[in-house]
Amino acid sequence: ILTINNLTKKFGYLTAVKNLSFTIKKGNVYGILGPNGSGKSTTLGIVLNVVNKTEGDFHWFDGNTSTHNALKKVGAIIERPNFYPYMTAFENLKLVCKIKGVNYNKIDEKLEIVGLLNRKNSKFKTYSLGMKQRLAIASALLNDPEILILDEPTNGLDPQGIHQIREIIKQIAAKGTTILLASHLLDEVEKVCSHVVILRKGTKLYSGRVDEMISSHGFFELKSNKEENLIAFLK
Ligand code: ATP
Ligand code: MG
Repeated sequence: ILTINNLTKKFGYLTAVKNLSFTIKKGNVYGILGPNGSGKSTTLGIVLNVVNKTEGDFHWFDGNTSTHNALKKVGAIIERPNFYPYMTAFENLKLVCKIKGVNYNKIDEKLEIVGLLNRKNSKFKTYSLGMKQRLAIASALLNDPEILILDEPTNGLDPQGIHQIREIIKQIAAKGTTILLASHLLDEVEKVCSHVVILRKGTKLYSGRVDEMISSHGFFELKSNKEENLIAFLK
């Protein structure tokens, strides 16, 4: 679905992403795992065309469609959900449908997936943070994307909200949608992802299956590393 080759992003003298390569294949759940400032959001921003790369390459699908067109088959949440507070969830999603050229009859189906169908006529401002995030997921699913991209999907939520979002992600994946999520929590990647790319200071430390990572020698070295910016890996 996505191929990244030797991608580099510099902000002035700072190299946020360095020579990064990995491939996203259909049907898996990928985590980009790394502490604050390791380049997760920058990587997602580049492949979503909101951040310009400095060097390297990436292509979506077979590489024959433009990024602009390929992104029509991608759903993404890379910032805090932002909807109209005095409009209902349903009205907000109707607006998204208009913008994306999607039939309104998709709305109930997507609200059902995120468990918000019974609250569809409540104003957005009455939603909890977890519900807001779930509405954002429903919104990102409206165009039936082949891949759903989520940047830190459980950040700031309480334990119940975190659990709900993780279960929803797993359900969406089980129905065949590929997932790519960024997280600074090893725990999240262990619970949700089949594959992982570990970043540190923009450089890839590991990529592969999560189960193999957990049983691998290098992983335990990583876990026992005392360096301060690896603390996030320890939960
Ligand atoms: P976090 O867990 O905090 O979200 P991250 O892994 O998503 O971190 P990035 O946001 O990709 O990290 O940032 C990587 C590095 O690039 C950081 O050092 C950050 O300060 C820097 N950076 C990101 N965006 C910009 C920008 N627009 N201008 C300058 N520096 C930036
Ligand atoms: Mg980030």
